Amino acid sequence: MKEIQDLINCLNVQKNIVITSHRNPDGDAIGSCLALKSVLDAHLHVVNVVVPSDFPDDLSWLHGSGEIYVYDREQDKSLELIKSAEVIFCLDYNSLERVDKIGEAIRVSDATKVMIDHHLYPDGFADILISEPEISSTCELLYEVFKGAGWLSAITIHGLEALLVGMITDTGSFKYSISPNTFKNAGEIISQGGDIAHVQDMLYNHMPEKSLRLLGHCLSNRMNIYPDRKAGLIYLSKKDYMDFNIQRGDTEGIVNYLLRLDIVNIAGFISEQPSIVKVSLRSKGDFSVEKMAKEYFRGGGHKNASGGALYSSLKTVISTFEEATEKYKTEIINSY
Ligand code: 5GP
Ligand code: MN
Repeated sequence: MKEIQDLINCLNVQKNIVITSHRNPDGDAIGSCLALKSVLDAHLHVVNVVVPSDFPDDLSWLHGSGEIYVYDREQDKSLELIKSAEVIFCLDYNSLERVDKIGEAIRVSDATKVMIDHHLYPDGFADILISEPEISSTCELLYEVFKGAGWLSAITIHGLEALLVGMITDTGSFKYSISPNTFKNAGEIISQGGDIAHVQDMLYNHMPEKSLRLLGHCLSNRMNIYPDRKAGLIYLSKKDYMDFNIQRGDTEGIVNYLLRLDIVNIAGFISEQPSIVKVSLRSKGDFSVEKMAKEYFRGGGHKNASGGALYSSLKTVISTFEEATEKYKTEIINSY
């Protein structure tokens, strides 16, 4: 693959490197950054990770997560690192709009920009573009890049764990967007020492009590089902956030519960944040929530998992979801 050869050539002498990922980083974002850092560290480059906003507490067990620079907390240092970088990696995002303020710093930088991502329709700003929307996670794609570049011997046990985190979280524990290769790659990672039982345990058996109670609240009091269009919605207000002391990451995965219903082909999760209202969309089968996220919620993502955000009231965004699912009713019903 030409891009991998370009990457090898770009990194054949020691470089000052910054690895970035998207705002509200998730398991795939943090996992891919830390796995890549572990390999580049072993190759003796100078490597820093910078993300726009904080990541969920439940990823803080990952080795190296304490050294990640969060722009919201360390603005000057984050911008200075990006300014002085010779190579900038853009992992798990397809557009500089997904990285807020650091996007402009990346855009104007003279560094070689390397995008490794699995979202649809990548922007054209990268010098080396490795974009594979068919692959379930950036971590899986990154593992393929390591293999292709001959870098597997450099990866540490912690790096393997970080790769598994992204592969597991982006596929909902190997349930969505999977291919035979996903399992082949996971199998190889495990046979090289990646402790998948430990990773699953750290990801799913350390939930704070309030998160389970919040899930109960969502399912009992904040769930609308629209059987006429096979849609389901869960929404949370600012007050819910206060009442349940909800932190970043506490709502991760709640939207997927709606897909457990036979009568739901499209699921929405709408949450009222301090200044925006965030929307998560999921679908079963052929219906593309990526298109809906773009058309209605200024967002994007993947065919079956997308998101967006609007500067409107919670009520308006709920109405927008209702309007969007009404408009595409026939497609949604026939999609699965
Ligand atoms: P989530 O619903 O878990 O926040 O995100 C699901 C998918 O949609 C992820 O792949 C994520 O990258 C994408 N996504 C979430 N929010 C946004 C957004 O505001 N804009 C775009 N373009 N994609 C988003
Ligand atoms: Mn991802």
